Amino acid sequence: MTQRPTFDKPKVELHVHLDGAIKPETILYYGRKRGIALPANTAEELQNIIGMDKPLSLPEFLSKFDYYMPAIAGSREAIKRIAYEFVEMKAKEGVVYVEVRYSPHLLANSKVEPIPWNQAEGDLTPDEVVDIVGQGLKEGEQDFGVKVRSILCCMRHQPNWSLEVVELCKKYQHHTVVAIDLAGDETIKGSSYFPGHVEAYEEAVRSGIHRTVHAGESSPAEVVREAVDTLKTERLGHGYHTLEDEALYNRLRQENMHFEVRGPSGFVGLSHTETSKNGDPGHPRVQGQGGTAWGCLPATNLLLQVCPWSSYLTGAWNPNTEHAVIR
Ligand SMILES: [Zn+2]
Repeated sequence: MTQRPTFDKPKVELHVHLDGAIKPETILYYGRKRGIALPANTAEELQNIIGMDKPLSLPEFLSKFDYYMPAIAGSREAIKRIAYEFVEMKAKEGVVYVEVRYSPHLLANSKVEPIPWNQAEGDLTPDEVVDIVGQGLKEGEQDFGVKVRSILCCMRHQPNWSLEVVELCKKYQHHTVVAIDLAGDETIKGSSYFPGHVEAYEEAVRSGIHRTVHAGESSPAEVVREAVDTLKTERLGHGYHTLEDEALYNRLRQENMHFEVRGPSGFVGLSHTETSKNGDPGHPRVQGQGGTAWGCLPATNLLLQVCPWSSYLTGAWNPNTEHAVIR
């Protein structure tokens, strides 16, 4: 597959998932090396199976990870390599600053309950995963000249992991980690109120850890409200359904909430005002709302071409606004 440069200006990317941006070649390499069965034998076949050429429901999208995460999770070498290669990819795309997010628990095979991807128990803990990813990112930073920070994800369906996530955010603040996120299936009813998530976000507030939450992408505006009022998020990924609640939308505009929004494929060089004026065919409710949400450009995740889980922030933001870039 050929990668088309999104646009030729230096870019800032604030919403990209490390485990959605792995080279198919690297997955094949570790699948073979570790004796883990994969659904394809060539990078192209693998791309066709785990990539996306049409929008999927969130559960369908998440099921893609089942195919390839077993090849990477639990391997120190593989995890460091995907972090390093991620920075290399971003350098080639002209990204100058990126915040990459991932769940440490989904890459571990020890001290994680349940152990993900049907792995046998090993000795790689979520704590060490964060250390290793940080090493790979820092080496990439040095070699490719991209400033890289990371965000640690809680998962909606695993509130029992969240308190450790916030502790890891605190522990690794000087090892690339800048914020906590809540990812996964946001349609799980009441998941914003699961005590594990609430306590983790409370601790994040107390400890000065920055906060973002996936909400309002496949869930209603109410989940956005929960993210703001209960979890005290400072940014929203992606927040589209906020538009269904005009009062909430106007309030968040006034509060300068940062929406990590993607534009439609093929849009180039949008400013934040143009993004919402032109709308996104995949999210028609964005149409007609002028000049409000912060604009981001579409996914260039290697695996996840149509995936909303990656977005570029364009140049039309105020770098002095603290929430524009979580530092
Ligand atoms: Zn995402």
